Amino acid sequence: MHIINGVGVSEGVAIGPLRFFDKKRIEIDCEDIDNADEEVARFDKARAVACAQLDELYESAKEKVGEESAAIFDIHRMMLDDMDYIESVIDIIHEQNVNTECAVMQTAEKFRRLFASMDNDYMKERAADVVDVSNRLQDVLNPGLREGFELDTPSIIAAVDISPGEAVQLDNDKVLGFVTAEGSAVTHTAILARSMMIPAVVGVGAKLPAGFNGKPAILDGASGTLYIEPDDVVEAELNAKQNRIRKQREMLERLKGRPSVTLDGTKIDVFANLSHPAALDKAIENAAEGIGLFRSEFLFLESDDFPTEDEQFASYKKVVAGMNGKKVVIRTLDIGADKQVGYFDLPDEANPAMGMRAIRICLSRPEIFKTQLRAIYRASAFGNVAIMFPMIISTGEVEEALRFTEEVMDELRREGVEFDEGVERGIMIETPAAVMIGSELASMVDFFSIGTNDLTQYTLAIDRQNAGLGHLYDAKHPAVMKMIEMAVKAAHDAGIWVGICGELGADMSLTETFLRMGVDELSVSAGMVLLLREKILTLDLRR
Ligand code: PEP
Ligand code: MG
Repeated sequence: MHIINGVGVSEGVAIGPLRFFDKKRIEIDCEDIDNADEEVARFDKARAVACAQLDELYESAKEKVGEESAAIFDIHRMMLDDMDYIESVIDIIHEQNVNTECAVMQTAEKFRRLFASMDNDYMKERAADVVDVSNRLQDVLNPGLREGFELDTPSIIAAVDISPGEAVQLDNDKVLGFVTAEGSAVTHTAILARSMMIPAVVGVGAKLPAGFNGKPAILDGASGTLYIEPDDVVEAELNAKQNRIRKQREMLERLKGRPSVTLDGTKIDVFANLSHPAALDKAIENAAEGIGLFRSEFLFLESDDFPTEDEQFASYKKVVAGMNGKKVVIRTLDIGADKQVGYFDLPDEANPAMGMRAIRICLSRPEIFKTQLRAIYRASAFGNVAIMFPMIISTGEVEEALRFTEEVMDELRREGVEFDEGVERGIMIETPAAVMIGSELASMVDFFSIGTNDLTQYTLAIDRQNAGLGHLYDAKHPAVMKMIEMAVKAAHDAGIWVGICGELGADMSLTETFLRMGVDELSVSAGMVLLLREKILTLDLRR
C-alpha cells in the first residue's frame, strides 16, 4: 500500500482504479511493415471508431451547448470522410511501406500546412482541426498510450494539474474523484469538484509516479489522502467512512424545505454556487434557497467557440426555470486568469490574475458582453434572475456595465421580447478597491456579493493558484475580515443586501461572525448547504 498526502479540497470517499490523465502528446514511431493491406485495414477500422466517437460527441454537445457549438465535431467527422485525406493515408502506407500511425502523422502535417497557407480565415482555422482529428485517430490506434478526456470505467483521475476547461469536459458519471500534484483549495477546478460533490485532493507534489496507473485506490477528500493498493484494514475503514458520510447526508434530508433561522429568529439565505448547469441537480437536491453565484464562464470554457445568444439563453433558462422562482444570480463572464479560453485570443500576460479578465474584457468587447446580457435578460422571463458583475474596481465600470444593461433592455423592448423589468443588478466585492469605495458603489446597485477568494488574493498579495504559497493564503486574515465587515456596512448603510459567495462563506467556524456582521446571504457549494443550515439552526445570537 502507498499513502500519498495532499490538501483535501472536496470531501467524500472515492473508491476505484487510478487513471492518469496525461496531456502529453505521444511520440509517433514510423515503422516498416510487411503487409500494407493489413495496415490499411487497421486504418479503416480506426477511422470507423473515430467517426462513431465524433457522432456521439456531436449528439451530446448538441444537447448540452446547442447545435452551433456542436458543429465542430461534425467538421471533424467530415474531415475523416474526406477522400483526399483517406487517399493520402493509404498512399503513404503503400508507397513508403510504413505503419498507419506514421501515415496519419504525415497526412495531418500535409493538410495542416495546406490549410494554414490558405487566404480564407475559415480555412486557416481548419489547420488545427485536421491535427485534432488526426490525434483522435492516433488515440484509437493506440488506446491508453495517451490518456485523453474519455474514460471507459469510473475512475479516480490523477494529473499534474487539471485546468477548469479540462475539468468541465470530463465525463461526470465516470469521475469518482481526482487528485492532482499541483493546485490549491481555491482554484476553480477545486471549486468545481465541490459544486459537483466529487471528492478531490490537490497539491500532492511530485509523488504520483505513472507506474500507479490502473492500480486500485481510495481517495479521502476530507483528510487529503490517497491510498494506492490499499490493504484490507484501510479498505474496511474507508468503506465505513463512505457509509457514514452517506448516512450523515441522509440525516440532513430532514432540513430540506426549512428556512435557515437561528434560535433567536435571525434569518439568513443559504444559496448554492453553480459552476455548470449540469450541477443544478445537486443544488436542488440539497435544497438550496437560491443560486448565489452562477459562474457563467464555464459555458465558454467547455465550448470551442463563443456560445451564441440562443445557446446561452438555453443554459440560463434551464437553471432559472429549474430553480422554480428562487433567485438565480448570474455572474457575467469572468474569463481570464486561470480560466483561459483559446478563442478569446487574450494577450499573453506576466500577471494574468491582475490582467485582462472579467469585466475588463466585457467592457472592451461589447459584442460579447451584450450577447450575454441579452441571453440573461431573456432568461429572466422564466423566473427570478439577478445579474452580477465581477472584478469591479471603479464607479466608472459600474456605470458602463449598467448602461449596457439599459441598452439591452431597450433593444428587447423594441423587439417585443419578454423579460423581467425588475432584474436586480449587483456587483462582486472582490478587490480592495471596491471595498474602499463601497459606499459609492452601494449607491449604484441593488446588492453586493463578496468574493472572498479573490478578495483574499488581492488583499494579501498571494496568488490563489500558487500551491507553494498555500500556507500564506489565509482568508481569515484580519485584513480580509475587516474588508468583509466594511463591505457589509457600506451595503447596509445604502439599504441594499449583501452576501458572501467566496469559499469562506462555507467556513462554519465563521458562520456566527458573519451573522453578527449582518450578512444576508451565504452562497456555498451544494454539498455544504444543508450542513450550513444545520449549523445556523443551532446558533443563538442573544448569547
Ligand atoms: C471569489 O473570487 O471569491 C469568487 C466567488 O469568484 P471566483 O472564485 O469565481 O473568482
Ligand atoms: Mg473571483
